[in-house]
Amino acid sequence: GSSQSALNFGAGPAKLPREVLAEVQDEILSYQNTGMSLMEMSHRSKEYGKINKSAQDSIRELLKVPDNYKILFIQGGGLGAFAAVAMNFMSRTGKADYAVTGTWSGKAAKEAEKYGDVNLVFPKLEKPGSIPDQSTWTLRPDASYFYYCDNETVDGVEFPYIPETNGVPIVVDMSSNIMTRKVEVSKFGCIFGGAQKNIGPAGVVVVIVRDDLLGAAMKVCPTVFNFTLVHKDNSVLNTPATFSVYVMEKVLQWIKQHGGVENMETQSGRKSGLLYETIKTSGNFYSCPINENCRSRINVPFRVGGPQGDEDLEAKFLEEAEKRYMYQLKGHRSVGGIRASLYNAITFEDVALLVKFMKEFQAQHQK
Ligand code: PLP
Repeated sequence: GSSQSALNFGAGPAKLPREVLAEVQDEILSYQNTGMSLMEMSHRSKEYGKINKSAQDSIRELLKVPDNYKILFIQGGGLGAFAAVAMNFMSRTGKADYAVTGTWSGKAAKEAEKYGDVNLVFPKLEKPGSIPDQSTWTLRPDASYFYYCDNETVDGVEFPYIPETNGVPIVVDMSSNIMTRKVEVSKFGCIFGGAQKNIGPAGVVVVIVRDDLLGAAMKVCPTVFNFTLVHKDNSVLNTPATFSVYVMEKVLQWIKQHGGVENMETQSGRKSGLLYETIKTSGNFYSCPINENCRSRINVPFRVGGPQGDEDLEAKFLEEAEKRYMYQLKGHRSVGGIRASLYNAITFEDVALLVKFMKEFQAQHQK
C-alpha cells in the first residue's frame, strides 16, 4: 500500500493523468451535487447525455474530424472491433485486404476470415519489425476495405505513413496511438481505438466512421456492433460503459488543456527520442530489434545484454526497476525482453528517470 505514485510503463490498461483521477475521486460519491455517483445514474439522464456529447465533441475537436464522419462508442474491446469492422464493411464485395505487421493486425485478419475472403497484402513476416515496401503489396481493387494497425503494441511497430489504396476505404486500428499524433481523418473510412491506453479506462472503444460506409452491415451483425444502429441511437442504444466514457471525457479535456494532439505528438517524439537514443548509444548493451523507419513512439521493446537478450539480466533489470517504482516493464510474453510504453500520461521526466536507471544498470552490469 504505497501512496507514492508508480512510474507505470505498462502497455495497457495504462497510466492515466493523476489530475483526472483526483477529479474522479472528488466526484465519486456525488456527481455535481446530485448525491449520486455518475456510475449510479441512468445512461438516459441529462448528466450522462452531456458527458456523451462532450466526449464526442472533444474527439471531433481534437482530431479535427470532418462533419461527414460519425463518432460512436461501443463495447467489446479492440477484439470486438475486429469482428465489428468486418461485419459492418465487408458485405459490399465480400473481400477485404489486410496488412499484418504484428500481433494485433494478425488477430484482426483471423477474426475477419470468419466473415469473408481475407487477403494478406504481403506474406506473413518471419519476425515483426519491418513493413514491406508498399510497391510489393497485393492490394485488390475490389476489396471492400483495406485494414492495418497503425501501432502494434506488442511488437513496437508504428506506421510512418498512411498507405495509398486507390479509393479502397481504409480501416485502421489506433488503439495504442490514438491522440498521440495528428491524423488526417479524411484519408480513412473508419478509425477505431480502445480507450485503455491513451484516453481512459478499459470498457469503451471509440469508432470514427465515414457516413457513406454505414447501412451495409451483414445480417448476422449483432445489434450492439452495428455501427448504423449504434449511431442512430447516439451510442446509447443499450447501456454503455458509462463510467468509462465519463473518465474518458475528462482525459479528453486534459489533452485539450495540455496543448491538444499537437503537443501530445511533440511530447511523444521527445520521450521516445530520448529512450531510443539511450538504446542506440549503449554499445549494444541495450538493443531494439525494430527497423528504424517504423519504430513505435509509443511502445518501445528492447533487449538487455546483447541483441538476443540475456534473460537473467533482464529479470534483474525488472527487479531493480521495481525498487525504483518502475512497473510493468516486462515485454509481452510472446516477445520477451523489456517493453516501455510511453502513452500520453507518461511524462518526459518519467522517461528521464527510466533512462537514468538504464545507464546506472548498464554501468553496474556490463561485463
Ligand atoms: N489493438 C491493439 C493495437 C491493441 O494494443 C489491443 C490490446 O492491447 C487490442 C487491439 C485488443 O484490445 P482489447 O484487449 O480491448 O480487446
